[in-house]
Amino acid sequence: MLIERIWSGNSLRNFHYLLACPQSGEALAVDPLEWRLCLDAARRRGWQITQILNTHEHHDHTGGNAGLKAATQARVLAHAGAATRIGGVDVGLTAGDLVRVGRSVELECLDTPGHTMTHVCLLSHTEQPALFCGDTLFNAGAGNCYNGGEPHALYRTFATQLARLPDATRVYPGHEYLARNLEFTLDREPGNPDAPALLEAARRHQPAESLVTTLAQEKKINSFFRLQNPEVLARLRALFPDLDERPDAETVFVKLRELRNRW
Ligand SMILES: [Zn+2]
Ligand SMILES: [Zn+2]
Repeated sequence: MLIERIWSGNSLRNFHYLLACPQSGEALAVDPLEWRLCLDAARRRGWQITQILNTHEHHDHTGGNAGLKAATQARVLAHAGAATRIGGVDVGLTAGDLVRVGRSVELECLDTPGHTMTHVCLLSHTEQPALFCGDTLFNAGAGNCYNGGEPHALYRTFATQLARLPDATRVYPGHEYLARNLEFTLDREPGNPDAPALLEAARRHQPAESLVTTLAQEKKINSFFRLQNPEVLARLRALFPDLDERPDAETVFVKLRELRNRW
């Protein structure tokens, strides 16, 4: 599978992705808001965009569908539960569905509620897995829940699905927020040994060159995977004195999400 990450250059800091079959040149576009950039990138590589996938129904992920579909006749795929809200969806997806691109690419659909309740992530069936995770998981962060989402559901998605994927899985989110998220990590866990160097690197890079993390790295730098870290817990208890001595992971996750909302 060939992956082209396309930096939108917009104020929302969207990333778009083209996933292509090296044998046939067919490509799938993930959340192609700035669809002309995606079309230009495909043309440069000699690829044909035959499918569009929306990870969820927010406009900053679906707003390019009509333009790209008109230009390419691509089929639109999205969570079956989001199809009517998005409109123009050709294929409704449910958990475990396989999305095929050309002759060689196979992606598994994960049903990942939390950011919205109808959100899919795509997991590639490749030697090193790649996860296209929309607004569920960000590099060093988690999606917000205030536009149709629910933080307890997002916790369950993290705990029962994302955390169990192979450590080598590469993380391709829908937006570039790495530096900002690492600043939050260090606010919650000033002693985190891995975040400072990464933050320095993130500040040096242009968004288009931003780092692609793995899940192994996320578990070291993403507060939303570090729910039992003693420093995270101690600093949370300082803010929420009524927290238990040993709060469960779900409570910690939801409190962190609440803090991130106003941070
Ligand atoms: Zn969203
Ligand atoms: Zn978004």
